Amino acid sequence: MRNRARDTITFGIASAAIILFVGTGGQALQQVIKAMQGNGIGPDNLMVSALLLNVALILLGWRHYRQLVTEVDLHRQAEDQAKQLADRDHLTGFLNRRSLSIAADELITACAARGESVALLMADLDSFKQINDVHGHGVGDNVLQQCARRIAEILPARSLSARIGGDEFACMIPFDSRHPEQLDELASALIEAVALPAQGSELQIDITMSIGIARGDGPLSGGATQATVKALLHSADIAMYHAKRKGRNRYFWFETSMENEMRVRRELEAGIRAGIPLGEFVPYYEQQIDLKTGKLTGFEMLARWKSPNFGIVGPQIFIPVAEDIGLIGQMSEGLIAQALQDAKAWDPALTLSVNISPIQFRDPWFSQKLLKLLVEANFPPKRLEIEITESCLHENVGAVRTLLASLKNQGIRISLDDFGTGYSSFSQLSELPIDSIKIDRSFVQKLTSGGDNATIVRAISTMGAGMGLPITAEGIESEEVLKELRTFGDFKGQGYLYGMPEPADETHKRLADLNLLAVPSEPFSATTAQQDRKAAAG
Ligand code: C2E
Ligand code: CA
Ligand code: CA
Repeated sequence: MRNRARDTITFGIASAAIILFVGTGGQALQQVIKAMQGNGIGPDNLMVSALLLNVALILLGWRHYRQLVTEVDLHRQAEDQAKQLADRDHLTGFLNRRSLSIAADELITACAARGESVALLMADLDSFKQINDVHGHGVGDNVLQQCARRIAEILPARSLSARIGGDEFACMIPFDSRHPEQLDELASALIEAVALPAQGSELQIDITMSIGIARGDGPLSGGATQATVKALLHSADIAMYHAKRKGRNRYFWFETSMENEMRVRRELEAGIRAGIPLGEFVPYYEQQIDLKTGKLTGFEMLARWKSPNFGIVGPQIFIPVAEDIGLIGQMSEGLIAQALQDAKAWDPALTLSVNISPIQFRDPWFSQKLLKLLVEANFPPKRLEIEITESCLHENVGAVRTLLASLKNQGIRISLDDFGTGYSSFSQLSELPIDSIKIDRSFVQKLTSGGDNATIVRAISTMGAGMGLPITAEGIESEEVLKELRTFGDFKGQGYLYGMPEPADETHKRLADLNLLAVPSEPFSATTAQQDRKAAAG
């Protein structure tokens, strides 16, 4: 306000000065010039003073005018900066969701006018939450910035790139509809680029990304016929989730069939969230046998979901979902607590094996959490074995070694599950404190039906013998396979030949019949077991 008043006054003074200057200046200047030529009297003092005053006022006006221009410039710059901040993601400099929507609308219109198509590519980092949890938010931010840089380097000209969620990027790309393979190449290149090791960082973080692509001239979610930004975003999102479900680190084009899957997936997620506190996840037990003596040595706990909506659900369905929605740790702790109570009723010579997800293995508190469960259940650690897969070993090797050492110090044994399907190196195996390996059932099931299976099983058994590592063969379904396995060495084994995984009460009955209960007279009671669990959980 003050500035405006000042500007008005300045403008008034300068204008008046100019008018006066024209009025007085003409006359005074004439007199001065004449006096200098020697044919006239000198100018009137009053006139000269008025003239000088006018000049001063004009200069003053000019100075104020310059000041005003500078101020307007600064103001405009600040406005631009504020707009930039509102339009841009502060971390990556990419557009944000709001500004993407505006820019994408414009791009769709422009492309339509040029006879081009547009595609929306939605990219989401896999397991970013764990990076944040394990390495801290600073590292997480660096990862995001680095990914954004790599995405920006690869995107074709005129593309838009936005960060629309924590670890979610959306890119809109103009393309020639006759050559959609360009987008296949682009998606592969993006996945490859983010996976490159970070430069100048000592941390070795594996970064993978899942991508969904929707094209404006293709099918869209909800049967939408118009390629709006909203429809494209939604369709690409569905395709991206499909890529996650199919194992992550890959891309998919949107197809209408994916929508159904998405609905089921939402129901699963909601069911799992609700089912954990309601105790719907229960342990089943599969016998483990010493193949040489035929004696029962213990059980592997395998999770089942008694879902009111879906019936009995297997872990292949719900474990990956629980991992994705960050509930695997909580679910697994509940299951292990139940299993420890069940196993306390068994003969103390029998062991209990539990499967641990690689996600749990990244938790720096994992070892403490497991110890707490053992203490609460008053269960001897040496009766517990954890089964981890090779993928647990590929991340931060130093941290993995510390974790394994800490578990071993407590007396817990560690078994490497699904051996042969991953890519553990020989040196890795000999360096890490692993107690046994389990040959994946895919090799065992078809051991006698030719192919390379027998060769692989023989190689693993030779390696195990060389390293002093006991071997368990899983997936024994027939006497034939059992007989063949016995020729390789002294294995432990499990599989449908010995029985399907059973719930706690059936396992209890089986052990009672074999006279293998800790307190032989006590019948299994689900209620007592439940009460014990509650008491143990405090
Ligand atoms: P896994 O650890 O390899 O478990 C063995 C799987 O093979 C079990 O499937 C078991 O039922 C099945 N199986 C056992 N014997 C035979 C056989 O003779 N033939 C065939 N074809 N299959 C056999 P299940 O129970 O569906 O478990 C699947 C996977 O889910 C497990 O594979 C394990 O990786 C995972 N899982 C199970 N429970 C848990 C858990 O509590 N936590 C975590 N993180 N993963 C679990
Ligand atoms: Ca297992
Ligand atoms: Ca296995």
